[in-house]
Amino acid sequence: MSLFLRRLFFVFAFLPAFLNGQENQEVMGSFGKFIDAGDLKKHLSVLASDKYEGRETGKRGQKRSARYLAKEFKKIGASPPGDTSYFQTFELSFKGHDTKDTGKKSITKVKTENVIAIIEGSDLKEEVIVISAHYDHLGVKGKKVYNGADDDGSGTVALLEIAQAFAEAKRAGYGPRRTIVFIAFTGEEKGLLGSKFYVSNPTYPLEKTVCNLNIDMVGRIDKAHEKDTNYVYIIGSDMLSTQLHALNEKANELYGKLGLDYKYNDPKDKNRFYYRSDHYNFAKNNIPVIFYFNGVHEDYHRDTDEIHKINFWMLEKRARLVFYTAWLVANQEKRITVDKKPPSR
Ligand SMILES: [Zn+2]
Repeated sequence: MSLFLRRLFFVFAFLPAFLNGQENQEVMGSFGKFIDAGDLKKHLSVLASDKYEGRETGKRGQKRSARYLAKEFKKIGASPPGDTSYFQTFELSFKGHDTKDTGKKSITKVKTENVIAIIEGSDLKEEVIVISAHYDHLGVKGKKVYNGADDDGSGTVALLEIAQAFAEAKRAGYGPRRTIVFIAFTGEEKGLLGSKFYVSNPTYPLEKTVCNLNIDMVGRIDKAHEKDTNYVYIIGSDMLSTQLHALNEKANELYGKLGLDYKYNDPKDKNRFYYRSDHYNFAKNNIPVIFYFNGVHEDYHRDTDEIHKINFWMLEKRARLVFYTAWLVANQEKRITVDKKPPSR
C-alpha cells in the first residue's frame, strides 16, 4: 500500500476508537504495520553501502550517516530534543587502530555525535522511554569496507521505522502518553562510548528515564535457529523490572508471536552479552533495559557482514516487537517499577 493510502486507511479505520484497553491494543497493532521490510531495506541499502565507509567513529562515513539519520528523522516528523539539534556532539578518546602493525596503539581523539530524535508524549511527557541502536561500525581496514549491515545497521534502520510508526500514530491522534526518545549511538565499537557519554550528559534526566530498549543486531539468523527462524534473543528484561519483562511478553503475545529465546539472559553467561552493548550503561544506572539480539554469526565483525545476508522479514518482526513493547510501556497508567536488585558483575 502506498503511504498515502495507508494513512487514509488508518484515519478511517480508527477515528472512532478510544485509547483504552482492547481498542488501544488494536490501534497499536495497526500502527506497527508502518514498520515495513521494504522501507528497512531502503534505509539499510544507504547506510550499509560502501559510500558510508563502515561508519567508523569520528570518520567521514560516521558523519555522513549522522546527517542521513537526522534528515530521515526530520522527514518522518520526529523532532530534535528541545527543537534545537539532532546532534549531541562531543569529543572522544580511544585507542586507535594499529595500522602499521607495530604492536603499539596510539590514542585517537575525535569529535563525534549521538543522533537524538523524539516523539513527545502527552499527559506524562516528562517521563521518557529511550529506544536505541548504535550506528557506528568498524570503518575501512586496508581495502576492506566493514559495512556492518547487521552490526548495527539493522538496529539503526529499525530505529527509523519505529520512529515513523510512532509519528504516524501521533498524527492520527494516538500519540504516546510518555515521550519516546530515539538515540542512534556513536562510539559503541570503541567501547560503548556514545552511550557512556549520554548517561553522564543525559538530554532527559535519568530519574525520568523509564527504560531503555536497545537493538543491536536483529537482521540475521544464527546457527541455533536455522530450522525455526522466528525468534529473537531477549537479554536483561527481567533483571531490574518484573513489569518490563511482562510487558515485552504481552506485546509479543498480542502481535508477532516470536520465539523469545532467553538463553543469553544471564549475567554469568560466558559470552557476557548483557555487558556488551549500549543498554548496559543504562542498566548500570538502575534503569530497566531490554537488549534485542539475533546472536552471533560467521560474519560478525568481518567485512562480509553485508546487506544481501539480511533477513528483512525477521528484521521487520523484531522491530515491530520493540515498537509494541515501547507502546505498552509508554501508555500504561503507572510507570513500571524497579523491583529487583541489579546483578553483581
Ligand atoms: Zn553492535
